[in-house]
Amino acid sequence: KTAEPVDYLAKLNEGQRRAVEHGGGKAASPLLIIAGAGSGKTNTLAHRVAHLIAEGADPRRMLLLTFSRRAADDMRRRVERIAASVLGAKGSTLSEGLAWAGTFHAIGARLLREHAFQIGLDPSFTIHDREDSADLMNLVRHELGFSKKENRFPTKNTCLTVYSRVVNAQEELEGVLKEAFPWCLDCAADLRTLFSAYVEAKLQNNVLDYDDLLLWWSQMVAEPMIAADIAARFDHVLVDEYQDTNRLQSSILLALKPDGHGLTVVGDDAQSIYSFRAATVRNILDFPAQFSPPAEIVTLDRNYRSTQPILSAANAVISLASERFTKNLWTDRQSAEKPQLVTVRDETSQADFVATRILENREEGMTLKQQAVLFRTSHHSGPLEVELVRRNIPFVKFGGLKFLDAAHVKDMLAVLRWAQNPRDRVAGFRVLQLLPGVGPGGAAKVLDAVDTDDIAALPAPPRASEDWPAFVAMVQALRTSQDAWPGEMEAVRRWYEPHLDRMHEDATVRRADLLQLEQIAASYPSRERFLTELTLDPPSATSDEAGPPSRDEDYLILSTIHSAKGQEWKSVFVLNTVDGCLPADVAAGSKNELEEERRLLYVAMTRARDSLHLITPQRFFTHGQHAQGDRHIYANRTRFIPAAILSHFEQVMWPMARASGASRAAAVHKPVDLRDRMRGMWR
Ligand code: ATP
Ligand code: MG
Repeated sequence: KTAEPVDYLAKLNEGQRRAVEHGGGKAASPLLIIAGAGSGKTNTLAHRVAHLIAEGADPRRMLLLTFSRRAADDMRRRVERIAASVLGAKGSTLSEGLAWAGTFHAIGARLLREHAFQIGLDPSFTIHDREDSADLMNLVRHELGFSKKENRFPTKNTCLTVYSRVVNAQEELEGVLKEAFPWCLDCAADLRTLFSAYVEAKLQNNVLDYDDLLLWWSQMVAEPMIAADIAARFDHVLVDEYQDTNRLQSSILLALKPDGHGLTVVGDDAQSIYSFRAATVRNILDFPAQFSPPAEIVTLDRNYRSTQPILSAANAVISLASERFTKNLWTDRQSAEKPQLVTVRDETSQADFVATRILENREEGMTLKQQAVLFRTSHHSGPLEVELVRRNIPFVKFGGLKFLDAAHVKDMLAVLRWAQNPRDRVAGFRVLQLLPGVGPGGAAKVLDAVDTDDIAALPAPPRASEDWPAFVAMVQALRTSQDAWPGEMEAVRRWYEPHLDRMHEDATVRRADLLQLEQIAASYPSRERFLTELTLDPPSATSDEAGPPSRDEDYLILSTIHSAKGQEWKSVFVLNTVDGCLPADVAAGSKNELEEERRLLYVAMTRARDSLHLITPQRFFTHGQHAQGDRHIYANRTRFIPAAILSHFEQVMWPMARASGASRAAAVHKPVDLRDRMRGMWR
């Protein structure tokens, strides 16, 4: 036991400490930490885990649910550090036992595999990513003849979105349609037929989609016997970023910890930004009253992350929100530097500005890793990426298009998936059509014959006889695991390369990706873990063909705001802070969506510790958002920074007319927005 006062607790403020010590190491009454950005919620959670371990709790019996795999790894590292400071060398080995840290989806996949036989699931199930799911939905749509009603019937992606929403929000189909897809109301009956066939197809194919990982998990723990089984595995369940969970997720928690004992949730309602995935801020707001006696609530009001001017500006933005629970934060980190609102001509000069500033920062001693560029939508960073490559600034991009989306990488993964689960029709379709001469018809013939595990017994597709035996041998070898993991990756690559060369002119570049995939694979313990985790949380795209940089290399972070959640950097640049981008155009309609966009800006601003730039190009390029197609739009500063709160920012214009070799510092001056003056003349 820890007799003497431990200094890791001394660093915490009173509220944080109360949260950490709540229950004194036992599975105590439910606890909610609800507080604003940068107030140390995640840090407190890490301390709580370490404290519980120090007080004798078993880390193997803790379930730690985070928003990304990265966040889980980060949490594990923090706990390790703290535990080591408490328990010495013993501490760092202890936290290795923290095996159940991950996203809801990843943990769900593991639990479902372990309990598969209890719930009629084949444990070799494979997981469909969104694209695979859309493909299967499409297949079913065709089979039912709905695709022929082309003009009237929703697209495969809309179908999937509706389906996903119904599942995650646990709402009636009609209600969801009425609220979010009123133009599909006519098709309600057909959609119901489609969804039921889609579910049947997934069962036939032995696949689960993302939503299933939560749905099956919640249904599994709704069974009292199994629930007791699973609940008994965990003394403590701790959840970060609880404001972004949906109904299914809260029902899972409640089933695991019906009386809330041992349950800790942490979040900030002002940062709820995932309602488009059916997350509901009600989860965190209603948490305390679910239990009797109600959960203990800890609020924190001191921000340790940002300087006073940055925090004031962020507070000003969020104070215009229509509702919120968490209060304004304070900090004692003084600074004379207000956040800058930078007006630039267009996205090209925006890229130029950001790259220039980033290099200046680096010259002043700030590494690239301490800086980040954030944006609303993945494609907003396009012009900047070009500029960064041109200037040789390495970067890693989170959110949006992934390495895994490349056709050849998907091909390789599909081979592994089909070997693991020959009933996975979407994977099978992809794999079989890699063979020369095999089209959809031929592939379907083979797949229709799949009903045993014996690949060799399958009929050769019509025009593929020559390549067929080698293919079957390769898949059989995978199925019997003749080459131990990850060695089998090489065997698959060797089989695939000739096909790659035949199909793609730029095969050399693509071959490099496959080698990279092999390296990534080597860091996973098994094929199944590799496939599952890669599908759920794919690695990020990098500026460098050599692949993800190693830990000690320096690189800039580019990220969507959504993916930047929970993180912090010394210097943050937010691109396209204009109406039409932030808020996104699509959101300009509904009030709720607009409020969510405001919170998004708040999340972006509160990532910054010392320096914050919001950039407004006067012209930007839209990508197919308009009936007129792609075009340049003249933009206005985001409506979330109205004149009334402008005093929190320093307004600058960049660049000044490229006159007489003026220094860069001199190129920053106060802008005059004549547009408002012109409008004012007629008001
Ligand atoms: P977000 O809402 O963005 O997820 P958060 O509330 O989870 O933020 P943390 O990321 O845990 O905040 O902490 C923000 C920063 O403040 C971190 O750099 C952390 O180390 C620091 N910090 C937290 N608590 C303290 C403390 N008591 N003393 C000093 N620094 C602290
Ligand atoms: Mg956090």
